[in-house]
Amino acid sequence: PKNRIKVLLLENVHPMGVALLENEGFSVEVYPAGLDEDELCEKIKGISILGIRSKTQVTQKVIENANRLMAIGAFCIGTNQIDLDACQDKGIAVFNAPFSNTRSVVELALGSIIMLIRNIFDKSILMHHGKWDKSASGSREIRGKKLGIIGYGNIGAQLSVVAESIGMDVYYYDAEEKLALGNATKVESMEALLKTADVVTLHVDGRVENTNIITEKEFNLMKDGVIFLNLSRGHVVDIPALKAAIKSKKVAGCAIDVFPKEPKSNNDPFESELRGLPNTILTPHIGGSTEEAQVNIGQFVPARIMDYINTGTTTNSVNFPNLQLPRLQNAHRLIHIHKNVPGIIAKINQLFAQHEINIVGQYLKTNEKIGYVITDIDKAYPNDLIKSLRDIDHTIKFRVLY
Ligand code: NAD
Repeated sequence: PKNRIKVLLLENVHPMGVALLENEGFSVEVYPAGLDEDELCEKIKGISILGIRSKTQVTQKVIENANRLMAIGAFCIGTNQIDLDACQDKGIAVFNAPFSNTRSVVELALGSIIMLIRNIFDKSILMHHGKWDKSASGSREIRGKKLGIIGYGNIGAQLSVVAESIGMDVYYYDAEEKLALGNATKVESMEALLKTADVVTLHVDGRVENTNIITEKEFNLMKDGVIFLNLSRGHVVDIPALKAAIKSKKVAGCAIDVFPKEPKSNNDPFESELRGLPNTILTPHIGGSTEEAQVNIGQFVPARIMDYINTGTTTNSVNFPNLQLPRLQNAHRLIHIHKNVPGIIAKINQLFAQHEINIVGQYLKTNEKIGYVITDIDKAYPNDLIKSLRDIDHTIKFRVLY
């Protein structure tokens, strides 16, 4: 019975997420706030599914105290707050919502480009100070302008489509081979892209190697009067170099949503060299923060967790080998998670052979540390088979799905 599966949801997870897990028949407990390590170590006992957002630290110690945990849902994008290795070692699958706020970031980027290319923010500030400055000089349309996208992942590719649909001419550079969408033009190097674009926008991921990929040298390669956006990660841009580029008018306008150092809470002050610069839109890391994105996250994460619990599917798991599984009729499904050492599959299948059990389907995927095997079998299995499967050396978790 599903109500034996206990779910603990912290940090005001979206009501949509709560409802989906309740409708599934799970026993759901909801907390508005997060829990500290000691509290969580206590509460985690007996819990099968944990849902958190970005503040709850799921440490090794928490994982050691988890005796029934099967899955963690991070109702957000990042998963740095979770000790993913510890989870993997214990056979706990972690899911997040990697593209639930993609569209929100894209819309802010596009809106910012239009505001910047018309100098709207500075004009608005003047108006608030009682100054009427009607002029067309330096104001342009975005139609026909060259948009240079660095990082053509979820966000970069989506921006490509939307920007093109209102008439921008899209160029992109990605470190990996990426399919060009619509009429976008792939560029072979970042340097070539910087020389071409009227608007440069960054959508790379936050890996450490991407620290300061835009410095004085890169700004110098850009066109005079370029529009520059960073809505990706703060450490990607050398801030003093950006400041200098704005002051020298190399950069005619910029929108920055992410910073190398961001305040921890709304009560802490925002310190940055970028404060007070002309035609500079500063936003508090809200690119992905919309009500729609919150609803999307509230739907996406429970769906991944229920897929995993009900079918074993691990698509989009951040720490498990990704397997997409069919739902079979007239079969039992057995899930075996083990350390990735040689010979385990052979041992599993030897046990099936000994019990004269026919395998209807078998799926295996491994990563460096663990192996994930699903076996569908077509007839009643003896209890001692289950015990023997559990007893195979290096078994991390074993579960009969149906
Ligand atoms: P993604 O992983 O789908 O795409 C990143 C792309 O950048 C990949 O295609 C990768 O190959 C490419 N890349 C990485 N390093 C590169 C480099 N040095 N040069 C060229 N290409 C490079 O990520 P995404 O979902 O599109 O998100 C993009 C960025 O936006 C991430 O940094 C993410 O953290 C950030 N983000 C910000 C907000 C916000 O609120 N401002 C919201 C969501 C995501």
